[in-house]
Amino acid sequence: MRSSVVVGMLWMLTVAVAMAAAPAPPKFDGGRAYEYLRQVVAFGPRPAGSPALESTRQYIKKQLAEAGIQVIEQPFDADTPIGRVHMVNLVARIPGASPDRIVFAGHYDTKLFREFRFVGANDAGSSTAFLIEWGRVLKARKNPLTTELLFLDGEEATLPEWDTATKDHTYGSRHYVEAAQKDKSLSSLRAMILVDMIGDRDLNIRRESASSSWLTDAIWAAAKRLKYGDVFLDQTEAIEDDHIPFLDAGVPAVDIIDGPGSYPPWHTAGDTLDKVSARSLQVVGDVLYEALPTIEKRAAARPGRAGF
Ligand SMILES: [Zn+2]
Repeated sequence: MRSSVVVGMLWMLTVAVAMAAAPAPPKFDGGRAYEYLRQVVAFGPRPAGSPALESTRQYIKKQLAEAGIQVIEQPFDADTPIGRVHMVNLVARIPGASPDRIVFAGHYDTKLFREFRFVGANDAGSSTAFLIEWGRVLKARKNPLTTELLFLDGEEATLPEWDTATKDHTYGSRHYVEAAQKDKSLSSLRAMILVDMIGDRDLNIRRESASSSWLTDAIWAAAKRLKYGDVFLDQTEAIEDDHIPFLDAGVPAVDIIDGPGSYPPWHTAGDTLDKVSARSLQVVGDVLYEALPTIEKRAAARPGRAGF
């Protein structure tokens, strides 16, 4: 009896020492992500070129700086149907063992509506907040590849309707890819993972049909392992989004999105805080964290390409 108590105490001591020596990396915290989302939404409507979006940029930079992550601005002027608009992508890099990169992207602009107040809690508060929290998690993780957090400006069309032909949308992602082609940095980009509208309380994410299948498969397999098959559905839909310019340039890419069809408040005054939840952000964070080793393995194995 006595000796088993001593053994038990020794065991507990060993565990305590081991835990002190190797602190667990911070897990994705849906509650923290929700708080970022709440603060971003408090800036009000945040269309491209607006002072509120400039405030949002400063906010993102401050949060990432507190996590020890530096942010670079990528400014550009976009010619849109409503005139020239000054836009800024934010690029935050977390160095890994290899200079080869995985990009996690999302847009942070909200769609311009003049007839009602649109604060975009889900679109794009959720992607903005998610990436800040995701950065905090990755900063504390040992990453085999370099990670880039990419906050994209100008995803939304400036006109009310999304027009595929005139390309009045995805200004930030198209600019990023063009710049990376010009300075030849695209060749070190091994995968692009896009999050968009992932805060819906009633989260339903379908496989996006244009996305690279190996990326989609890795993420859906992770969701199955974590028993989130009710969120990551085995259904497919096609969505035009910021991943398309990357795919067009030959970069494997995936869009993690709860599409407009399953989010009734989409592009209405009703896209407000009460429609999103910390739990939904948590599920996406947990699934991407679980999928990451598989994605990193495959991305690292992909042969480099010449010509970019
Ligand atoms: Zn939108």
